[in-house]
Amino acid sequence: MTTFAELGLSPKILAAVEAAGYTTPTPIQAGAIPHALERKDVLGIAQTGTGKTASFVLPMLHLLEKGRARARMPRTLILEPTRELAAQVEENFVKYGVNHRINVALLIGGVSFEEQERKLERGADVLIATPGRLLDHFERGKLLLTGVEILVIDEADRMLDMGFIPDIERICKLIPFTRQTLFFSATMPAEITKLTEQFLHSPARVEVAKASTTAKTVTQRLVKSAKKPWDKRAVLRDLIQAEGDELKNAIIFCNRKMDVSELFRSLVKHGFNAGALHGDMDQRARMTMLSNFKDGNLQLLVASDVAARGLDIPDVSHVFNYDIPIHAEDYVHRIGRTGRAGRSGKAFSIITASDTKHLDAIEKMIGEKIEWLDGDLSTLPAQEETEETGRRGRNSRGKNGKKPRDAKEHKEKQAQPRVAEEKAAEAPVVADISALDAPQPVIPDNVSLGTAVTQEPVRPAPHKNGNDERRQNHTQNGQQNNKRHRRDFDDEPSPLGFGDDIPAFMLIPINI
Ligand code: AMP
Repeated sequence: MTTFAELGLSPKILAAVEAAGYTTPTPIQAGAIPHALERKDVLGIAQTGTGKTASFVLPMLHLLEKGRARARMPRTLILEPTRELAAQVEENFVKYGVNHRINVALLIGGVSFEEQERKLERGADVLIATPGRLLDHFERGKLLLTGVEILVIDEADRMLDMGFIPDIERICKLIPFTRQTLFFSATMPAEITKLTEQFLHSPARVEVAKASTTAKTVTQRLVKSAKKPWDKRAVLRDLIQAEGDELKNAIIFCNRKMDVSELFRSLVKHGFNAGALHGDMDQRARMTMLSNFKDGNLQLLVASDVAARGLDIPDVSHVFNYDIPIHAEDYVHRIGRTGRAGRSGKAFSIITASDTKHLDAIEKMIGEKIEWLDGDLSTLPAQEETEETGRRGRNSRGKNGKKPRDAKEHKEKQAQPRVAEEKAAEAPVVADISALDAPQPVIPDNVSLGTAVTQEPVRPAPHKNGNDERRQNHTQNGQQNNKRHRRDFDDEPSPLGFGDDIPAFMLIPINI
């Protein structure tokens, strides 16, 4: 088995890796690092969770040991599709770069331009950026890319999904031809292959576990549910409760950010310790939420795919698919949040009658049938799906005549007008938070909570709630943000009553 010492890394890096507690390189590290150290282009086909970040951070640190940065001319550039991933890569430089004196600058949306410009002015050894924000700085004339020696393009297939490829092509053309390029993607669709043919020079191809496989350490189960949101929420609560102490922490995935918001409010209302993450929350709120989840202050994190993509949360015991993902590949990414580094994990997917098509696609892709927890959809009691029928429906007794599992709740619901109750669930759960006199988070001047300040995905088609119009017309420090049209995977209207009303207890200030 290869050791880190055999990879050719410097003593300073080896000491940092040891201090981080890693003894053996992962396959992508063992495969990519030697080529990167030889200054070859690398095409790494690997997903998050495989140790891919260190496979470019470690050789970069090694190569940066010689030379120093000049003002506004970064020596290396890492492109990431989301702000969270960019911030995570920065954390990796902190971890592995403890014995180095390097300047790392992060250029992401939702943070003031001035602060980022100061960092660029000081000279950055490493620049980590999302494509939109990078180009905005470039257009403001605050950045020269002619000094970039190493370019890293991470999560390229995600970049494609999010409509970033034209930006990537533009950026590649702004960087000297003589650079070294390290390119990572979990999958290789035709557009990505084309990009690699255009911008990589005889790359060393390093491929590890395919994106279409799920870890053997994850127990996957399907759970039947009727279609209405209250049915699904009740099924989810029952599942969480049934797991008891086994459930250390969990990510609950929804397909739409509206549902993230609604489910989050419902869980809090039912006394669960939950937070939420979706693409319309500003950077500070997202980072704080994530940090609280990582630190164990929040047990449950309700998230959309775009917000959770690639997050490095090492020890998640459970993943719940409140909605089955529309893209089969997302299932693998979601499930990949648990069962990491050989640990065991559980993944439950709530399935309704209208999900069978997506479920079939997932099972086809992963090449296995997923077991049902408690009988498949045919065992579901007949339901009347009308608003008036209430949460469990009139016919909520099972075939055996038994009451639903959550009988107490059912009884309580019967005592109240149901439609009004659903309306109440829609209301911001934090309406009275100001009365608590809780400390408010510090928000950068140019950021307003709950509005789409991101430089990242902007959907092309205007939405009926005007959200797109708001996004497209939104300006940041005078920069018109309607030049680039991108697809947003949180592709639904902005949730009301969440962006502006994030509970203060979830925004315990942290240093980021
Ligand atoms: P990544 O794929 O870069 O998101 O890394 C996934 C997780 O693996 C992170 O928590 C890393 O800290 C961890 N990790 C990275 N390299 C190693 C290694 N050689 N051995 C064990 N864990 C690692």
